[in-house]
Amino acid sequence: MNGARRIALLGATGSIGGSALDVVARHPDRYTIDALSAHDRVDALLALCARFRPRVAVIADPAHEAALRDGLRKLGLSCEARAGVEALDEVAADPNSDTVIAAIVGAAGVSSTMAAAQAGKRLLLANKESVVMAGALLMRAVAASGARLLPVDSEHNALYQCLPANGGRQGVRRLLLTASGGPFRGRPRETLSAITPDQACAHPNWVMGRKISVDSATLMNKGLEVIEAAHLFGLPAGQIEVLVHPQSVVHSLVDYVDGSVLAQLGQPDMRTAIAYGLAWPERIDSGVDALDLVATGRLDFEPPDLGAFPCLGLAYAALRAGGSAPAVLNAANEVAVAAFLAGRLPFLAIPALIEATLSAMPVEPDGDLAVLRACDAQARRRAGDLLSKMERA
Ligand code: NAD
Ligand code: MG
Repeated sequence: MNGARRIALLGATGSIGGSALDVVARHPDRYTIDALSAHDRVDALLALCARFRPRVAVIADPAHEAALRDGLRKLGLSCEARAGVEALDEVAADPNSDTVIAAIVGAAGVSSTMAAAQAGKRLLLANKESVVMAGALLMRAVAASGARLLPVDSEHNALYQCLPANGGRQGVRRLLLTASGGPFRGRPRETLSAITPDQACAHPNWVMGRKISVDSATLMNKGLEVIEAAHLFGLPAGQIEVLVHPQSVVHSLVDYVDGSVLAQLGQPDMRTAIAYGLAWPERIDSGVDALDLVATGRLDFEPPDLGAFPCLGLAYAALRAGGSAPAVLNAANEVAVAAFLAGRLPFLAIPALIEATLSAMPVEPDGDLAVLRACDAQARRRAGDLLSKMERA
């Protein structure tokens, strides 16, 4: 490698952002931070700027631009302050960085992820919603620009490590995505009606942002990941299966036609996948402890309970329907999860709201990003209307 990699970290104040900065800080000779972004937490962004001295800081919500500028000045930092969604796209494509870590949560990350792909960056992709919404476009942009997409989602990172290095799929029978099963694994559906946001966010193995924590509790996270895997690895729904594995040590497996099954194992700590993406094809210390299989003791596997957790089935159906269906699924899920976290929607009504939104919207053929954004916006409006109706009922 010639010189240090220069990184734009989008979503720096989140859970993945924090893990990425932890890995970066261990290797000051290899990595420098070119840009950091946050949604609206100016103080948290300023603290990161003081520590990592980026060239640019972006606050996505323009209402906080002045606070960012003033804060940087008070800290005596020469860092440039930028605001708004366009600024995110510009730093993602800026030639001052060679690596983009896409760690924004939700469809809000789609245009900066696309911008990084079009600019031919090394793209460490955590923002799975952008793949669900615009997977075909994203993969085409990566192929056209020569970007190097390295999945950071732990399952996809595991699959990437276990698939043939030449990018071919020769001899692959199935991808097996592991799922912890979330905090309510094994519980019958009727016991889940009074679940609170804090209970849903108390994940047994992973510490994550609140949106993905709720997705893990409903199994929608695994559904989004099935769609993500279909795009990243170019395989149909019928070759992607989900396996519940409560210990979260086997991060996923590739089943080959000769009967070989390759798996990647490790502690449930996102720094492993991030370090892999940063250093690929080399390996670096991530700060993650060695795996002690004797201490782990046992590895259990069971099928997912689609009756108790219908979101996984909804995601498979959207993947099979194709076109705009995954974008609608994702948008409806974002509305449902935000409503659940705000105390407006019961836990068990999350899949009901998503299903009603999907049924209310025709599947549009795959279009460009503008078409998908319009579907996303329309699905959010439709889900919002259905939510108001459910609240009145
Ligand atoms: P988080 O909520 O902890 O952090 C989200 C980040 O995105 C924050 O920096 C926030 O400021 C920024 N953000 C939020 N809304 C925004 C908006 N509208 N515009 C611009 N920026 C915005 O989330 P997280 O857990 O770090 O997850 C980030 C992404 O990584 C998600 O797509 C998630 O599915 C994926 N992921 C997370 C984990 C994990 O362990 N946390 C694992 C696998 C994949
Ligand atoms: Mg995952």
